[in-house]
Amino acid sequence: MLAEKIEETWSQFLVFIEKQCSSAEYKNWFAPINVLSESEHEIVLEVPNIFVREYLLDNYRRELALFVPSDDQGNPSIVFQVAQSKPKASNGELPLDIPEETPTPDFRGHRLQLNRYYTFENFIEGASNQFVKSAALGVAMRPGKSYNPLFIHGGVGLGKTHVLHGIAHYIQKDNRKLRVQCITTESFINDLVDNLRNKSIDKMKRFYRSLDVLLVDDIQFLQSRLNFEEEFCNMFEALINQNKQVVITSDKPPSQLKLSERLIARMEWGLVANIGVPDLETRVAILQHKAEIKGVRLPQNIAFFIAEHIFNNVRQLEGAINRLSAYCQMMGLDVTEDVVEKILSEMFQYVPKKKITVESIMRSVSSMFNVRVSDLRGSSRTKEIAFPRQVAMYLAKELINESLIKLASSFGGKTHSTLLHSWNKIKKQIEKDETLRRQIHMTKQNLEE
Ligand code: ADP
Ligand code: MG
Repeated sequence: MLAEKIEETWSQFLVFIEKQCSSAEYKNWFAPINVLSESEHEIVLEVPNIFVREYLLDNYRRELALFVPSDDQGNPSIVFQVAQSKPKASNGELPLDIPEETPTPDFRGHRLQLNRYYTFENFIEGASNQFVKSAALGVAMRPGKSYNPLFIHGGVGLGKTHVLHGIAHYIQKDNRKLRVQCITTESFINDLVDNLRNKSIDKMKRFYRSLDVLLVDDIQFLQSRLNFEEEFCNMFEALINQNKQVVITSDKPPSQLKLSERLIARMEWGLVANIGVPDLETRVAILQHKAEIKGVRLPQNIAFFIAEHIFNNVRQLEGAINRLSAYCQMMGLDVTEDVVEKILSEMFQYVPKKKITVESIMRSVSSMFNVRVSDLRGSSRTKEIAFPRQVAMYLAKELINESLIKLASSFGGKTHSTLLHSWNKIKKQIEKDETLRRQIHMTKQNLEE
């Protein structure tokens, strides 16, 4: 009697919901659910993993409440149980119970191979990577308890692998008992192939399943590898279901990866964080840090010079320092602008320059010095306004090939001698004022973006 009722309630819900969603969604999320029991007050559902519970409650709370028992607030009273998979997995799923025999972390010779240098201490923070760095640190400090999975994406050479190894280093130091594995997707696939060939796949599964933290680099290489994708997805789910920490890196966000909906949905479950191209200041800081490690004396103006010309890849910045240091040591030279031009010019990136106008200079100066464009054109002599105006005049003379009279008139009808005076003043001041030099560098940089 009761059994019939359970069947009915749930199958009625399924009939209803099947019409509401796509067939892929139905197959993925609803079909695998089993009803374990039901009373007047609640229904107990068996779900393959915790994702299904969250998915149902996030997306179908209202619809569920129409069919299953609900509480005082009208919320569905559902108890979710994550399914224990069969001891011998016949459908390729990884068993969920922890093996008694704990394999060594250097399974098949894969000792944790970390780059010694890729630590959090050696990672220079800036606006472009702060979010990723703090998420990674959060995960390293409390594996499995903050964001899970953590998905880090960004272009080539921006520090994804560095951060991933940073997590591993931190955990190894902080809590030696935890089993950490850091792998590239390529080596995971190679492992799978080897183990399938050697019929040792169960051993491999046991190894991965016994981990506390799994760090996977470059998941984009799993695209178009259908069989491996399924195996990876099973392992990934098994770990997440046990609250084991998973961190994944990729060159694209999950939604742009050509992977199954199921895997994409799971990867988006925790925190998705982007690592971007570092701004000028951060690039300078990175160059200085790398130079220090190499024992190269790198004057600040040279660091700025390099950072202005190499701007979308940290690995190239590092390459520049390596080249420079090798050359200068060999030739017994100091690092000067001339040497840099000679050695690095082929690495430099030149962007087609946008046409620079007095208007665009004023806009850039106004945002750097936090004044209004109309103030720059106006006649106020207060220092807060007169000084940025002089900077704008200096830049106009430096960057625009026009007569002084014409340039000056664009500043609300000033005279050419005012413009010349400003230019002279700022030019002198730049020589002794580091802050101003930087501000002007950045204003120019913004002009060209
Ligand atoms: P990705 O994996 O994103 O392609 P990597 O992590 O291999 O990039 O980084 C490339 C190089 O740049 C590495 O040597 C790394 O140490 C360095 N790097 C990247 N970002 C930073 C940073 N914020 N601070 C210091 N070094 C960095
Ligand atoms: Mg990498």
